[in-house]
Amino acid sequence: MNTDKRKVVLIGTGMVGMSFAYALVNQGGICNELVLIDVNKARANGEAMDLNHGLAFAKSNMRIYAGDYKDCKDADIVVIAAGVAQKEGETRLDLLQRNTEVFRSIINPVIKSGFDGIFLVATNPVDIMTRVTYELSRFGASRVIGTGTSLDTARLRYLLGDYFTVDPKNIHAYVIGEHGDSEFVPLSQVMLATKSVSEILADEKNDYKIEDMQSIEEQVRTAAYKIIEAKRATYYGIGMAITRIIKAILGDENSVLTVSAKLCGEYDSKNVFIGVPCIIGRNGVKEIVELSLTEEEKAKFQKSRQVLEDNFNGLEL
Ligand code: NAD
Repeated sequence: MNTDKRKVVLIGTGMVGMSFAYALVNQGGICNELVLIDVNKARANGEAMDLNHGLAFAKSNMRIYAGDYKDCKDADIVVIAAGVAQKEGETRLDLLQRNTEVFRSIINPVIKSGFDGIFLVATNPVDIMTRVTYELSRFGASRVIGTGTSLDTARLRYLLGDYFTVDPKNIHAYVIGEHGDSEFVPLSQVMLATKSVSEILADEKNDYKIEDMQSIEEQVRTAAYKIIEAKRATYYGIGMAITRIIKAILGDENSVLTVSAKLCGEYDSKNVFIGVPCIIGRNGVKEIVELSLTEEEKAKFQKSRQVLEDNFNGLEL
Protein backbone atom coordinates (compact mmCIF):
# COMPACT_ATOMS: atom_id res chain seq x y z
CA MET A 1 0.00 0.00 0.00
CA ASN A 2 1.08 3.54 -0.81
CA THR A 3 2.41 5.32 2.29
CA ASP A 4 3.34 8.88 1.30
CA LYS A 5 0.16 9.69 -0.63
CA ARG A 6 -3.28 9.08 0.84
CA LYS A 7 -5.71 8.53 -2.00
CA VAL A 8 -9.39 7.66 -1.68
CA VAL A 9 -11.74 6.78 -4.54
CA LEU A 10 -15.47 7.24 -3.95
CA ILE A 11 -17.82 5.23 -6.16
CA GLY A 12 -21.37 6.57 -5.98
CA THR A 13 -21.65 10.33 -5.67
CA GLY A 14 -25.21 10.41 -4.34
CA MET A 15 -26.36 11.76 -0.98
CA VAL A 16 -24.35 9.29 1.14
CA GLY A 17 -21.20 9.49 -0.99
CA MET A 18 -21.18 13.28 -1.13
CA SER A 19 -22.03 13.69 2.57
CA PHE A 20 -18.92 11.61 3.18
CA ALA A 21 -16.86 13.69 0.71
CA TYR A 22 -18.07 16.92 2.31
CA ALA A 23 -17.16 15.66 5.80
CA LEU A 24 -13.76 14.53 4.52
CA VAL A 25 -12.97 17.95 3.03
CA ASN A 26 -14.18 19.78 6.13
CA GLN A 27 -12.36 17.63 8.66
CA GLY A 28 -9.17 18.10 6.66
CA GLY A 29 -5.84 16.31 6.76
CA ILE A 30 -7.26 12.80 6.40
CA CYS A 31 -6.31 12.27 2.77
CA ASN A 32 -4.81 14.39 0.00
CA GLU A 33 -6.48 12.97 -3.10
CA LEU A 34 -10.16 12.21 -3.64
CA VAL A 35 -11.52 10.75 -6.88
CA LEU A 36 -15.25 10.76 -7.61
CA ILE A 37 -16.79 8.06 -9.83
CA ASP A 38 -20.46 7.60 -10.70
CA VAL A 39 -22.41 5.96 -13.49
CA ASN A 40 -23.81 9.47 -13.93
CA LYS A 41 -20.56 11.14 -15.05
CA ALA A 42 -22.10 14.62 -15.26
CA ARG A 43 -23.08 14.33 -11.60
CA ALA A 44 -19.57 13.28 -10.54
CA ASN A 45 -18.13 16.20 -12.53
CA GLY A 46 -20.52 18.70 -10.98
CA GLU A 47 -19.82 17.40 -7.47
CA ALA A 48 -16.04 17.66 -8.02
CA MET A 49 -16.44 21.28 -9.20
CA ASP A 50 -18.67 22.18 -6.25
CA LEU A 51 -16.30 20.64 -3.67
CA ASN A 52 -13.24 22.22 -5.28
CA HIS A 53 -14.89 25.65 -4.99
CA GLY A 54 -14.98 25.18 -1.22
CA LEU A 55 -11.29 24.28 -0.91
CA ALA A 56 -10.28 27.89 -0.27
CA PHE A 57 -12.25 27.63 2.99
CA ALA A 58 -11.02 24.15 3.96
CA LYS A 59 -8.44 23.32 6.63
CA SER A 60 -6.05 21.57 4.27
CA ASN A 61 -5.54 21.19 0.55
CA MET A 62 -6.77 18.21 -1.41
CA ARG A 63 -6.80 17.17 -5.03
CA ILE A 64 -10.41 16.41 -5.96
CA TYR A 65 -11.54 15.30 -9.42
CA ALA A 66 -14.09 13.18 -11.26
CA GLY A 67 -12.28 10.12 -12.53
CA ASP A 68 -12.55 6.67 -13.95
CA TYR A 69 -11.97 3.12 -12.73
CA LYS A 70 -8.34 3.19 -13.83
CA ASP A 71 -7.79 5.81 -11.09
CA CYS A 72 -8.31 3.05 -8.49
CA LYS A 73 -4.93 1.52 -9.38
CA ASP A 74 -2.90 3.41 -6.75
CA ALA A 75 -5.71 4.21 -4.31
CA ASP A 76 -5.44 3.30 -0.63
CA ILE A 77 -9.17 2.94 -0.15
CA VAL A 78 -12.16 2.50 -2.47
CA VAL A 79 -15.41 3.57 -0.82
CA ILE A 80 -18.59 2.19 -2.36
CA ALA A 81 -21.77 4.18 -1.78
CA ALA A 82 -23.34 3.42 -5.15
CA GLY A 83 -26.73 1.84 -5.38
CA VAL A 84 -30.35 2.43 -4.86
CA ALA A 85 -31.48 4.30 -1.77
CA GLN A 86 -33.90 2.66 0.64
CA LYS A 87 -37.50 3.69 -0.05
CA GLU A 88 -40.14 4.41 2.58
CA GLY A 89 -41.33 1.12 4.11
CA GLU A 90 -38.72 -0.90 2.23
CA THR A 91 -36.37 -3.05 4.32
CA ARG A 92 -32.64 -2.97 3.68
CA LEU A 93 -32.76 -6.58 2.62
CA ASP A 94 -35.26 -5.76 -0.17
CA LEU A 95 -32.48 -3.80 -1.81
CA LEU A 96 -30.18 -6.79 -2.01
CA GLN A 97 -30.72 -8.13 -5.49
CA ARG A 98 -30.81 -4.70 -7.16
CA ASN A 99 -27.57 -3.64 -5.53
CA THR A 100 -25.76 -6.91 -6.28
CA GLU A 101 -26.05 -6.16 -10.00
CA VAL A 102 -24.70 -2.65 -9.39
CA PHE A 103 -21.74 -4.14 -7.50
CA ARG A 104 -20.89 -6.55 -10.29
CA SER A 105 -20.47 -3.55 -12.60
CA ILE A 106 -18.20 -1.85 -10.04
CA ILE A 107 -15.95 -4.49 -8.44
CA ASN A 108 -14.78 -6.01 -11.73
CA PRO A 109 -13.33 -2.77 -13.21
CA VAL A 110 -11.84 -1.79 -9.82
CA ILE A 111 -9.95 -5.10 -9.68
CA LYS A 112 -8.97 -4.79 -13.34
CA SER A 113 -7.31 -1.43 -12.55
CA GLY A 114 -4.78 -3.23 -10.32
CA PHE A 115 -6.25 -1.82 -7.08
CA ASP A 116 -4.52 -3.32 -4.06
CA GLY A 117 -5.95 -1.37 -1.12
CA ILE A 118 -8.97 -1.61 1.15
CA PHE A 119 -12.65 -1.71 0.18
CA LEU A 120 -15.06 0.18 2.44
CA VAL A 121 -18.73 -0.50 1.65
CA ALA A 122 -21.70 1.63 2.75
CA THR A 123 -24.38 0.47 0.30
CA ASN A 124 -27.32 -1.37 1.90
CA PRO A 125 -27.93 -4.03 2.96
CA VAL A 126 -24.39 -3.27 4.02
CA ASP A 127 -23.37 -6.58 5.65
CA ILE A 128 -24.41 -8.56 2.59
CA MET A 129 -23.00 -6.03 0.11
CA THR A 130 -19.69 -6.25 1.98
CA ARG A 131 -19.75 -10.04 1.64
CA VAL A 132 -20.62 -9.66 -2.06
CA THR A 133 -17.59 -7.36 -2.41
CA TYR A 134 -15.42 -9.96 -0.67
CA GLU A 135 -16.66 -12.75 -2.95
CA LEU A 136 -16.34 -10.73 -6.17
CA SER A 137 -12.95 -9.20 -5.33
CA ARG A 138 -11.34 -12.28 -3.73
CA PHE A 139 -9.38 -9.90 -1.48
CA GLY A 140 -8.26 -11.02 1.97
CA ALA A 141 -11.06 -10.54 4.53
CA SER A 142 -9.14 -7.92 6.53
CA ARG A 143 -9.20 -5.63 3.48
CA VAL A 144 -12.96 -5.75 2.90
CA ILE A 145 -14.89 -3.70 5.44
CA GLY A 146 -18.50 -2.55 5.70
CA THR A 147 -19.75 0.42 7.71
CA GLY A 148 -21.74 -2.19 9.70
CA THR A 149 -23.24 -0.83 12.90
CA SER A 150 -20.82 2.08 13.25
CA LEU A 151 -23.58 4.66 12.75
CA ASP A 152 -26.02 2.72 14.97
CA THR A 153 -23.35 2.63 17.68
CA ALA A 154 -22.87 6.40 17.39
CA ARG A 155 -26.64 6.88 17.67
CA LEU A 156 -26.68 4.61 20.76
CA ARG A 157 -23.84 6.44 22.49
CA TYR A 158 -25.49 9.79 21.79
CA LEU A 159 -28.84 8.64 23.26
CA LEU A 160 -27.21 7.00 26.31
CA GLY A 161 -25.08 10.09 26.89
CA ASP A 162 -28.23 12.21 26.79
CA TYR A 163 -30.05 9.83 29.18
CA PHE A 164 -27.27 9.70 31.77
CA THR A 165 -26.22 13.35 31.10
CA VAL A 166 -22.70 12.18 30.32
CA ASP A 167 -20.47 12.98 27.33
CA PRO A 168 -21.13 10.18 24.75
CA LYS A 169 -17.34 9.77 24.55
CA ASN A 170 -17.47 8.36 28.10
CA ILE A 171 -20.20 5.88 27.21
CA HIS A 172 -18.79 2.58 25.98
CA ALA A 173 -21.49 0.62 24.24
CA TYR A 174 -22.00 -1.17 20.94
CA VAL A 175 -24.81 -2.07 18.61
CA ILE A 176 -23.88 -5.41 17.07
CA GLY A 177 -25.27 -7.78 14.44
CA GLU A 178 -26.93 -6.96 11.13
CA HIS A 179 -27.17 -3.26 10.26
CA GLY A 180 -30.94 -3.65 10.21
CA ASP A 181 -33.93 -4.99 12.06
CA SER A 182 -32.15 -7.81 13.94
CA GLU A 183 -29.34 -5.62 15.35
CA PHE A 184 -29.21 -5.37 19.14
CA VAL A 185 -27.41 -3.84 22.11
CA PRO A 186 -25.66 -6.28 24.46
CA LEU A 187 -26.66 -4.46 27.66
CA SER A 188 -24.20 -6.53 29.72
CA GLN A 189 -21.43 -4.70 27.81
CA VAL A 190 -22.66 -1.11 28.26
CA MET A 191 -20.30 0.94 30.43
CA LEU A 192 -20.40 4.46 31.82
CA ALA A 193 -16.69 5.14 32.16
CA THR A 194 -15.63 1.78 33.63
CA LYS A 195 -18.85 1.23 35.58
CA SER A 196 -21.32 -1.30 34.24
CA VAL A 197 -24.69 0.23 33.33
CA SER A 198 -26.41 -2.97 34.52
CA GLU A 199 -24.95 -2.20 37.95
CA ILE A 200 -26.15 1.41 37.76
CA LEU A 201 -29.67 0.24 36.81
CA ALA A 202 -29.74 -2.23 39.72
CA ASP A 203 -28.89 0.55 42.21
CA GLU A 204 -32.18 1.68 43.79
CA LYS A 205 -30.67 5.04 44.75
CA ASN A 206 -31.29 6.41 41.24
CA ASP A 207 -34.25 6.60 38.84
CA TYR A 208 -32.66 4.91 35.84
CA LYS A 209 -34.78 2.08 34.46
CA ILE A 210 -34.15 -1.00 32.32
CA GLU A 211 -37.28 -0.09 30.26
CA ASP A 212 -35.56 3.14 29.24
CA MET A 213 -32.62 1.09 27.91
CA GLN A 214 -35.06 -0.98 25.86
CA SER A 215 -36.66 2.20 24.53
CA ILE A 216 -33.25 3.60 23.56
CA GLU A 217 -32.37 0.37 21.77
CA GLU A 218 -35.66 0.59 19.86
CA GLN A 219 -35.00 4.23 18.95
CA VAL A 220 -31.63 3.24 17.52
CA ARG A 221 -33.11 0.32 15.58
CA THR A 222 -35.87 2.43 14.03
CA ALA A 223 -33.90 5.67 13.52
CA ALA A 224 -33.31 5.13 9.79
CA TYR A 225 -37.01 4.45 9.15
CA LYS A 226 -37.98 7.65 11.02
CA ILE A 227 -35.46 9.79 9.15
CA ILE A 228 -36.49 8.32 5.78
CA GLU A 229 -40.14 9.03 6.61
CA ALA A 230 -39.27 12.63 7.43
CA LYS A 231 -36.71 13.49 4.73
CA ARG A 232 -36.60 10.50 2.34
CA ALA A 233 -33.02 9.40 3.04
CA THR A 234 -30.28 9.39 5.67
CA TYR A 235 -26.84 10.64 4.75
CA TYR A 236 -25.04 13.04 7.12
CA GLY A 237 -24.54 10.53 9.93
CA ILE A 238 -23.34 7.74 7.62
CA GLY A 239 -21.10 10.24 5.77
CA MET A 240 -19.40 11.04 9.06
CA ALA A 241 -19.16 7.35 10.00
CA ILE A 242 -17.36 6.61 6.70
CA THR A 243 -15.01 9.53 7.37
CA ARG A 244 -14.28 8.18 10.85
CA ILE A 245 -13.41 4.70 9.52
CA ILE A 246 -11.14 6.17 6.81
CA LYS A 247 -9.36 8.30 9.41
CA ALA A 248 -8.75 5.17 11.51
CA ILE A 249 -7.30 3.33 8.49
CA LEU A 250 -5.14 6.08 7.00
CA GLY A 251 -3.97 7.25 10.44
CA ASP A 252 -3.19 3.64 11.48
CA GLU A 253 -5.11 4.43 14.67
CA ASN A 254 -6.00 0.93 15.86
CA SER A 255 -9.34 2.39 16.92
CA VAL A 256 -12.25 0.17 17.91
CA LEU A 257 -15.19 0.66 15.56
CA THR A 258 -18.23 -1.55 14.94
CA VAL A 259 -17.70 -2.36 11.29
CA SER A 260 -18.96 -5.25 9.23
CA ALA A 261 -16.16 -7.81 9.19
CA LYS A 262 -15.81 -11.47 8.27
CA LEU A 263 -16.02 -13.79 11.27
CA CYS A 264 -13.57 -16.67 11.36
CA GLY A 265 -14.75 -18.55 14.46
CA GLU A 266 -15.38 -15.48 16.64
CA TYR A 267 -18.88 -15.47 18.21
CA ASP A 268 -19.10 -19.17 17.22
CA SER A 269 -19.59 -18.06 13.61
CA LYS A 270 -17.76 -18.36 10.32
CA ASN A 271 -17.89 -16.71 6.88
CA VAL A 272 -20.62 -14.19 7.64
CA PHE A 273 -19.89 -10.43 7.48
CA ILE A 274 -21.59 -8.76 10.45
CA GLY A 275 -21.26 -5.68 12.67
CA VAL A 276 -18.86 -6.35 15.55
CA PRO A 277 -16.29 -4.20 17.35
CA CYS A 278 -13.01 -4.38 15.44
CA ILE A 279 -9.56 -2.85 15.83
CA ILE A 280 -9.06 -0.80 12.66
CA GLY A 281 -5.64 0.26 11.39
CA ARG A 282 -3.61 0.79 8.22
CA ASN A 283 -4.23 -2.73 6.93
CA GLY A 284 -7.94 -2.75 7.67
CA VAL A 285 -9.36 -5.10 10.29
CA LYS A 286 -6.47 -5.92 12.61
CA GLU A 287 -8.52 -7.86 15.10
CA ILE A 288 -12.13 -8.70 15.90
CA VAL A 289 -12.93 -7.93 19.54
CA GLU A 290 -15.00 -10.77 20.94
CA LEU A 291 -17.32 -9.49 23.67
CA SER A 292 -18.30 -11.72 26.60
CA LEU A 293 -21.99 -12.00 25.79
CA THR A 294 -24.63 -13.52 28.07
CA GLU A 295 -26.51 -16.60 26.84
CA GLU A 296 -29.48 -14.42 25.85
CA GLU A 297 -27.22 -12.05 23.90
CA LYS A 298 -25.50 -14.97 22.20
CA ALA A 299 -28.92 -16.20 21.02
CA LYS A 300 -29.75 -12.73 19.64
CA PHE A 301 -26.43 -12.65 17.81
CA GLN A 302 -27.06 -16.06 16.24
CA LYS A 303 -30.53 -14.93 15.14
CA SER A 304 -29.05 -11.88 13.46
CA ARG A 305 -26.28 -13.96 11.86
CA GLN A 306 -28.91 -16.35 10.50
CA VAL A 307 -30.85 -13.48 8.86
CA LEU A 308 -27.68 -12.48 7.00
CA GLU A 309 -26.77 -16.06 6.13
CA ASP A 310 -30.25 -16.79 4.73
CA ASN A 311 -30.26 -13.65 2.60
CA PHE A 312 -26.77 -14.23 1.28
CA ASN A 313 -27.56 -17.84 0.45
CA GLY A 314 -30.60 -16.76 -1.58
CA LEU A 315 -28.39 -14.63 -3.78
CA GLU A 316 -27.15 -15.43 -7.26
CA LEU A 317 -23.60 -14.19 -7.54
P1 NAD B 1 -28.39 8.07 -4.06
O1 NAD B 1 -29.45 7.55 -4.98
O2 NAD B 1 -28.43 9.50 -3.65
O3 NAD B 1 -26.95 7.80 -4.69
C1 NAD B 1 -26.59 6.59 -5.29
C2 NAD B 1 -25.58 6.91 -6.38
O4 NAD B 1 -25.11 5.67 -6.90
C3 NAD B 1 -26.16 7.73 -7.54
O5 NAD B 1 -25.37 8.88 -7.76
C4 NAD B 1 -26.11 6.76 -8.69
O6 NAD B 1 -25.91 7.40 -9.96
C5 NAD B 1 -24.93 5.88 -8.30
N1 NAD B 1 -24.92 4.60 -9.01
C6 NAD B 1 -25.96 3.76 -9.25
N2 NAD B 1 -25.53 2.70 -9.97
C7 NAD B 1 -24.20 2.86 -10.16
C8 NAD B 1 -23.21 2.09 -10.81
N3 NAD B 1 -23.50 0.94 -11.42
N4 NAD B 1 -21.96 2.58 -10.82
C9 NAD B 1 -21.62 3.74 -10.21
N5 NAD B 1 -22.53 4.51 -9.58
C10 NAD B 1 -23.80 4.07 -9.54
O7 NAD B 1 -28.45 7.11 -2.79
P2 NAD B 1 -27.82 7.43 -1.34
O8 NAD B 1 -28.86 8.05 -0.50
O9 NAD B 1 -26.51 8.09 -1.53
O10 NAD B 1 -27.59 5.93 -0.79
C11 NAD B 1 -26.57 5.12 -1.30
C12 NAD B 1 -26.55 3.78 -0.57
O11 NAD B 1 -26.16 3.97 0.79
C13 NAD B 1 -27.93 3.08 -0.51
O12 NAD B 1 -27.75 1.70 -0.70
C14 NAD B 1 -28.39 3.36 0.90
O13 NAD B 1 -29.34 2.42 1.36
C15 NAD B 1 -27.07 3.27 1.63
N6 NAD B 1 -27.05 3.81 2.99
C16 NAD B 1 -26.29 3.13 3.89
C17 NAD B 1 -26.24 3.55 5.21
C18 NAD B 1 -25.40 2.75 6.20
O14 NAD B 1 -25.50 2.95 7.42
N7 NAD B 1 -24.58 1.85 5.74
C19 NAD B 1 -26.94 4.69 5.62
C20 NAD B 1 -27.67 5.38 4.67
C21 NAD B 1 -27.74 4.92 3.36
